[in-house]
Amino acid sequence: MDQPSATLILKRGRERPVLNRHPWIFSGAVARLVGEPAPGDLVTVADHNGAALATGYYNAQSQIQVRLLSWEPERAIDEGFWRGRLQQALEGRSTISKEAESGNTPTTALRLVNAEADGLPGLVVDRYGDYVVMQCLTLGIELRKDSLVEMLVDLLHPAGILERSDVDVRVKEGLQPVVKTLYGDEPPAELTIQENGFGFLVDVHRGHKTGFYLDQRDNRVAVGRRPIMAGREVLNVFAYTGAFGVFAAAVGAKQIVQVDSSVAALETAERNMQLNGFERPEDEYIAGDAFEVLRYFRDEGRQFDAVILDPPKFAHSQAQVQRAARGYKDLNWLALRLLRPNGILATFSCSGLVSAELFQKIVFGAALDAGRDVQIMQYLGQAADHPILLSFPESAYLKGLLCRVL
Ligand code: SAH
Repeated sequence: MDQPSATLILKRGRERPVLNRHPWIFSGAVARLVGEPAPGDLVTVADHNGAALATGYYNAQSQIQVRLLSWEPERAIDEGFWRGRLQQALEGRSTISKEAESGNTPTTALRLVNAEADGLPGLVVDRYGDYVVMQCLTLGIELRKDSLVEMLVDLLHPAGILERSDVDVRVKEGLQPVVKTLYGDEPPAELTIQENGFGFLVDVHRGHKTGFYLDQRDNRVAVGRRPIMAGREVLNVFAYTGAFGVFAAAVGAKQIVQVDSSVAALETAERNMQLNGFERPEDEYIAGDAFEVLRYFRDEGRQFDAVILDPPKFAHSQAQVQRAARGYKDLNWLALRLLRPNGILATFSCSGLVSAELFQKIVFGAALDAGRDVQIMQYLGQAADHPILLSFPESAYLKGLLCRVL
């Protein structure tokens, strides 16, 4: 049975985050180990007096030496524990998916397990129609993968489960990237999902993340409203497979210009438009660096009524935050320069290390420099299937501002 093989004693004064139910123990907080845990083993975490506080899985190779699973040190971390956590995560989605699947605006792709925020550190599970895509981000999950897959099969009855553990964070855990079908049928090279009634082609094998930016689902609805988009010339920057574009087309955007560095993503973006019946010769697809394209438009004097900015993560570490802030500022400044009076700016950051407050300040700085007055109409965040755990503020990473630019 999976039982703690050692006790990890914290330095004096370093128990506060554990008592606050934060799931990470950094190497700097560790005084010593009693016992010799193998990588991935369960360990009991104790304060400097040896009083047990919590249980988690251990990896000496990682900066995050323990990821905590339970704050009841006596609680067995057995099959019932893992199954309970999975069920709890699925129950949390039932309200979202019932609402979404009813009527004629179905949603068939959803994040089912959001790692730490669902009490399952290191595990991501996304559903794409009949298929499940999972990511094992840590050694502790990697070692328990087979039994987790069995439980997922039992709970979800998927046609197949694909592992998409080709992520950089695995290196920090001493793991290699893996893409592999773990159960059932291999998902097709391209599958079609529904999001709020619109179809999207998804490559779960090679697409970004697990194939689709599920975290932007609610924002596509917020931004893609008729009064915001109808009759407008829209610039969708960092378009990926054009999901924001489809929602803009659906409410009558006059022209949509989609920009991304990936030619393959833009080809899918165009096919996604066609899939939804939007044959629009007026639209443009521009492959290139967003900064360069925006500068080119500025130099040309080209103007838009709405700009969507959804860049990739700029800050991967604390050391990169300043540089990232400059990147966000440049980008937003350029976008503001392209907007006609009374324009719309929907601007996002998915850098967890850039707080919502900092992001707002950055956009403010860009507005000052661009000489534009900007009103925030709505604060935007990650979709409800990417919950934020209060004891783990790191789980809040996506923030956005829906602005009116005077
Ligand atoms: N808005 C998209 C998700 C965007 S993810 C959606 O709703 O699905 C970020 C995108 O930025 C990726 O598609 C990536 O290919 C693209 N990208 C990354 N760096 C870029 C750059 N310098 N210029 C243009 N696109 C870039």
